[in-house]
Amino acid sequence: MKVMKPFMPQLVYFEPKSLEYPLGKMLKDKFEKLGVEIRETTSHNQIRNLPGENHFQKYRVAKSTLVIGLRKTLKFDTSKPSAEYAIPLATGCMGHCHYCYLQTTMGSKPYIRTYVNTDEIFEAAQQYMEERAPNITRFEASCTSDIVGIDHLTHTLKRAIEFFGASNLGNLRFVTKFHHVDHLLDAAHNGRTRFRFSMNADYVIKNFEPGTSSFEKRIEAAGKVARAGYPLGFIIAPIYVHDGWEEGYKDLFERLHHELPEEAKNDLTFELIQHRFTKPAKRVIQQNYPMTKLELDENKRRYKWGKYGIGKYIYEKDQEHLLKETLTEYIASFFPNAKLEYFT
Ligand code: SF4
Repeated sequence: MKVMKPFMPQLVYFEPKSLEYPLGKMLKDKFEKLGVEIRETTSHNQIRNLPGENHFQKYRVAKSTLVIGLRKTLKFDTSKPSAEYAIPLATGCMGHCHYCYLQTTMGSKPYIRTYVNTDEIFEAAQQYMEERAPNITRFEASCTSDIVGIDHLTHTLKRAIEFFGASNLGNLRFVTKFHHVDHLLDAAHNGRTRFRFSMNADYVIKNFEPGTSSFEKRIEAAGKVARAGYPLGFIIAPIYVHDGWEEGYKDLFERLHHELPEEAKNDLTFELIQHRFTKPAKRVIQQNYPMTKLELDENKRRYKWGKYGIGKYIYEKDQEHLLKETLTEYIASFFPNAKLEYFT
């Protein structure tokens, strides 16, 4: 089995101000020693000359390009309903999941950005928490990236976990498809971070999630995270109908059941999201992954009206019902004490 290596960018841009911060300097040193190509840019908005002859090539280069800069706006977006705020630690992802939501939200800027002014970001988080005190404020760290995927380079997420670990007013949550979690295992999380993995049937991961960690590696990583005492969760998404899907998803829950220690099973959350697409997303997917086998036929789906007039195509009622029933039953039998947060 080929094991996914930790992400290493092919090209790194530095915004000059980032070198005034210890993290910026440390990263510059690191990439220089590794011999990675380094360029300077006044602002990520100025990056226009990425190598590549056409959209297909440029898209791939961008996904292995890292831009190191400052987070200028310290106003956080809201992230309802699962958290009050999105904490901005990075944007973009090196993965190539065919159905990735970033394809439509990041548009022409699919490169990865990380911010070095983490203390300012944490100070902003502190203010948000104090405004809501004594209520707990929840922060989501994976709205615009797979933060775990780049954290072995920056350790920004680790600092965020320890920041919330030392607070009594805030909680952190994030989700990942990467197994590179070892450096996070000894973080002083104090139970205030919910570490979630995005999981799927092996077939779905193999066919539609290139550039991310395998089924086996994610399960193994979930076991490590659970044994490190983190509250754990799984997003099963997108739930996708394929030949043998019943067995595929059963195998997933069975394997998780064997991997996780008993204590972890008493504080476990599941979020279930069926596969869906919008018309704009379908166009982008076909442009970025022209050979995809992903089923995107509007005629086989049910149309659900959405915000801003962009509706989504979800499974037909009876199929949706069957998916929901089947997965809910698996959870009830393998993890009777887990909390099913929603099916959508
Ligand atoms: Fe997108 Fe997540 Fe896949 Fe990265 S791992 S490409 S963020 S779906």
